[in-house]
Amino acid sequence: MTGQNTDSNAAPKLSAHGIAKSFDGREVLHGISFDVLRGEFLSILGPSGCGKSTILRILIGLEHPDAGCVLLDGKDITDAAPSKRHMGIVFQDYALFENMTVLGNVEYALRFDPTRRECRTKIALEALASLGMADYANKPVAGLSGGQMQRVSIARTLALSPEVILFDEPTSGLDADARLALRSQLKKIQRDHGTTMVFITHDQEEAFALADRVMVMGEGSIHQLDEPLRIVENPADGYVRDFVVSNL
Ligand code: ADP
Ligand code: MG
Repeated sequence: MTGQNTDSNAAPKLSAHGIAKSFDGREVLHGISFDVLRGEFLSILGPSGCGKSTILRILIGLEHPDAGCVLLDGKDITDAAPSKRHMGIVFQDYALFENMTVLGNVEYALRFDPTRRECRTKIALEALASLGMADYANKPVAGLSGGQMQRVSIARTLALSPEVILFDEPTSGLDADARLALRSQLKKIQRDHGTTMVFITHDQEEAFALADRVMVMGEGSIHQLDEPLRIVENPADGYVRDFVVSNL
């Protein structure tokens, strides 16, 4: 580093530069670039099949881009293993062990983390408390509602203290009440922990309600990335106007 004024709060937490990806000879991401700011809640909004999940998988390293790079705190992590990226991911389908208890599921994730293994019960209970699930710690997962299972799955991710949490349509299996409850818990986690959040949804209302900024995607490209109100007042093109603004 030189003597330049580097304000680390203004520098992006996570950047994608020129990310391209093809499957079976068909390009599904056309060289996209965007930044996620430190502590920001970014919603990625777009129709099914436009490439949202592929972006998340590339950010966390479950998929390798054909071109472009991913930076975390300015460091190139394109070739780093997922476990070395300080990121967690939450999927739509919870991916819990249903025959284990709530606490057991969260503790299980901590087993593989040598720095947290020793006090994993305490850490797991704190994470469950953040999601309002501490009272369920000793209950089997099998008896929980979908909303409760998703909260356990988020607690499991949170227990590992990721700097960035990626959410791939975590609310799409939930009813309206559970969705609303989860929204306020996610915003609280962002506030309390300063976690950077990237949240995929195809639900406009949800994207706009949660986000500091919204990234509107069409097939494999970004149409607009801006604050919700600015998108509504000043849509970048006809696609954004039709897809977003007319649906609000
Ligand atoms: P979204 O999450 O926005 O619904 P995806 O990122 O899952 O979109 O998929 C984008 C496109 O890439 C889709 O046409 C999908 O069929 C295709 N795709 C995604 N993953 C694979 C894969 N592993 N093999 C082949 N095609 C894939
Ligand atoms: Mg998807």
